[in-house]
Amino acid sequence: MKLLDLQNLSEKRLKALQSVGITHPENLLTLIPRRYIDKSNIKPIRTLSETTEPITVVGRVKSTNVSGYKQKKRLEVIIQDETGSLKAVFFKGWKYYITQFNVGEWVSLFGPVKRYGHYMSMAHPEVDKVKSPDDVTQYDTLIPIYPSNKHFSKGYISNQLLKGWIEQILESTTVPEFLPESSLKRHNLYNRQEAFRKIHQPENSKQATTALERFKYEEFFLFELSMAKIKSIRIERTEGTVLKAGDLTKKFFNEILPFELTDGQKHSLSDIKTDLASGTQMNRLIQGDVGAGKTVVAIGAMLMAIDNSMQAALMAPTEILAEQHYQTIKQYIEPLGLNFRLLTGGQKTALRRDILTDIEGGSCDIVVGTHAIFQEKVTFHKLGLAVIDEQHRFGVKQRNEMLMKGSNPHLLVMSATPIPRSLAMTIYSDLDISIIKDMPAGRKPIKTAVRTEKERSKIYDFLEQSIKNEDQAYVVFPLIEESEAMDLKDATMGFEKLKRRFPEFRIALLHGKMKPDEKEGIMKRFVAGEIQILVSTTVIEVGVDVPNASIMIIEHAERFGLSQLHQLRGRIGRGSKQSYCILMPDVKLSKSGRFRLKKMVDTNDGFEIAEADLKLRGPGDFLGTKQSGLPEFKFGDIVEDRLLLEQAKNDAWNIIKTDPDLEKSEHKELKKVFEPYFKERAEFFGVG
Ligand code: ADP
Ligand code: MG
Repeated sequence: MKLLDLQNLSEKRLKALQSVGITHPENLLTLIPRRYIDKSNIKPIRTLSETTEPITVVGRVKSTNVSGYKQKKRLEVIIQDETGSLKAVFFKGWKYYITQFNVGEWVSLFGPVKRYGHYMSMAHPEVDKVKSPDDVTQYDTLIPIYPSNKHFSKGYISNQLLKGWIEQILESTTVPEFLPESSLKRHNLYNRQEAFRKIHQPENSKQATTALERFKYEEFFLFELSMAKIKSIRIERTEGTVLKAGDLTKKFFNEILPFELTDGQKHSLSDIKTDLASGTQMNRLIQGDVGAGKTVVAIGAMLMAIDNSMQAALMAPTEILAEQHYQTIKQYIEPLGLNFRLLTGGQKTALRRDILTDIEGGSCDIVVGTHAIFQEKVTFHKLGLAVIDEQHRFGVKQRNEMLMKGSNPHLLVMSATPIPRSLAMTIYSDLDISIIKDMPAGRKPIKTAVRTEKERSKIYDFLEQSIKNEDQAYVVFPLIEESEAMDLKDATMGFEKLKRRFPEFRIALLHGKMKPDEKEGIMKRFVAGEIQILVSTTVIEVGVDVPNASIMIIEHAERFGLSQLHQLRGRIGRGSKQSYCILMPDVKLSKSGRFRLKKMVDTNDGFEIAEADLKLRGPGDFLGTKQSGLPEFKFGDIVEDRLLLEQAKNDAWNIIKTDPDLEKSEHKELKKVFEPYFKERAEFFGVG
C-alpha cells in the first residue's frame, strides 16, 4: 500500500503529511494518539457545565434557524432531551450542516460546551445521526485524538480524517514483526500488528496502555541493542595494553598522599586496576558527588600508566579547572620526579610548540588540559590512559574519539552528576561504572538556608564576622545567555555594593567574559587566600577546590536549576570548617522555584537531588540529550519506564552476546530494522 491509496487525499493534504515526514503509510501508524476520548459518555443536557473536554449529548432536533447577514451567516440548531435544551452553532459549512438536521429526528452531538446567554451551546460539534437515544452502540470504543500541528491544519487534516486513514491502513496492510518472539512472550507484549491495532482502536484503556508498552519496549530494545553492539565492536577492535601498578603508584599512596582513602575511592581504584590489567581497553565511569575525591582516583590511575612507561592525559572542561588540576598534580607528582605539562587553548605559540614537542617526544609523562588535548595536532608518544573530568560537559563522540586514538588508550571518565545506579547502567550501558558514595571523613554537612532581602544586613554582618575569622566566601550571580548583558550588570553592581559595604576586605569579580589569564589570576589569588570574597557568575560551578571557602551566598537563587545549585554548593564544605550556603531568591517565587530551594535546604545528598531534578526537568533536559548520547525516546521515559528499560537492556545484551551480527534466522527481520538504526547511531558515537 502507498500513501496515495488513501481516501480523500488531496494534493494539499499530501503536502501537509510530507512536510511532517510522513511519506509512507507506516509513518501514519506510528502517529500515536495523544489521548483517547470516550464518546459513550453521554450527559443529560441539564447537568452540563462549561467544559473544554468534549462530551456527548443525544437529543431530538427541535428547530433550525439561519441568521446573520451575507458572509456572516450561521446555523443555529436547538436540540432537546428529556432534561433540557442545548444550542448547536455552525458558521463554516452551514449549508451542509442544515441538511443533517431534520426537526423531530434524533442526533448525537459531541464537543466542548460553553454558555452563551441562557443556552448551553456547542460550536461545531461532531454530528452523528442516531435512531434513538439507545442507539449509541457505535460509541463503545475509545476515540483516538491525534497530535495536531500547523501543517495538519493548513492541509485541513482533521482528527477524523487521520482516524479514517489509519483504519484504512490497518485493514489493508500486514505489519511484520521484528522483535524476537521470546521477548514478546516473556514480557507479555502485543506483536507489532496487534499493537498498532490496539493503540489506534482500543476497546478499553488497558489495551491502549499495553499497546504503548510494546512500542516503549521496542525503542528501548533497539537503543540497548546499539549500545551492546558498539561495545562489542570496541572490544573486538581494541586490545588494551596490559598495565600494572608499580613503584610510582605504591609510593604515591603509601608515602605522598596525606590522607586515608575512603572506601569508595578504594573500590574505584581496585576496579581500575582490574580493568587495566585485563588486556581489553578500559572504558569506565567514576560517579561521585562533588567533593567525593575523584581527583585522587584519577591520579592513581594515571600513575599506573606511567609505571608502565606510558603517558597519561587529564582533561577538564574549563581552563580554571585544568589549571587547578595542574596545581594538584604538581603537588603530588613533583616529589615523584615526573614531568607534567599544562595545555590549554589560550597559550602562546612558542610555549605551545614546546609543550607539543614534549608530548610527542615522550618526555612529558602527564598532560593536563582543556579540550585542546583532543586536537589532532597533539600527538602522543605513547598514551596509555586518558581521563576526562566532568564528562557531562563533553560529548559521547569525544569520548569515543579518545578511545579510538592511535594507541587505543584506556579511558576513565568522571562525573559529579550522580544519577541513580540502575539508570546509569542502562543509559551508559557501554561503560563500566564505579560509584563513590562516601565522603572523606571529617566533613561537616553544609548548612543551607533561604533568606529574604529584609535579612540582607544580618547576612552581611555574619559574612563580616566570618571573614574576620579568616574564612573566604563566594557570592554567586546567575548568568544566562538570553539576558547576558543584564546579568553581567547585576553581578557588577553586586560587586560594587559589596566593596562599599566592606571597604576593608579584598573582594574580586570573576565572570566568563574576562580574558583567560585575567580569570586565572583572580582564581589563583582566591586559592591562595589573597582574595577574601569572590563575586562571580557561574564560572566557578565546576570542580574548583578551595577548602578554606566556607560561605556561599547565591543571589537570584530561584533562577538556577536544582543540580546546578548543588554543584555550586559543592564548592564549599570541602574543609573541616562548618560551611553555610545562603540562598537569596527574588521576592516572587514560582512553585517549582520554591520546590528547588526547599530541596536544597532539606538535603545535601547529591543522589537525592539528582533524582528530584530528573523528575522536575525530564531526562532529556537533565542529561542533555545530545551530550549524553541518549536518543529522544518517542514513547518511553527512562525514568518512569525504568523497569521496562532494564528488561529491554537485558534482552538486547543477551542477543548481541550470542549473535553479534544477527545472523540467526530468528533475527532476520530484526537485522533489517536494526542495520539502518545502528548506522545512524554508530556515526554519532564515532565508531561508524
Ligand atoms: P571531586 O570528587 O568533587 O572532584 P576533589 O577530588 O576535588 O573532589 O576532592 C575534594 C577535596 O577532598 C580535595 O581537597 C581533596 O584533597 C580532598 N580529599 C579527597 N579524598 C580525600 C580523603 N580520602 N580524605 C580526606 N580528604 C580527601
Ligand atoms: Mg573534581
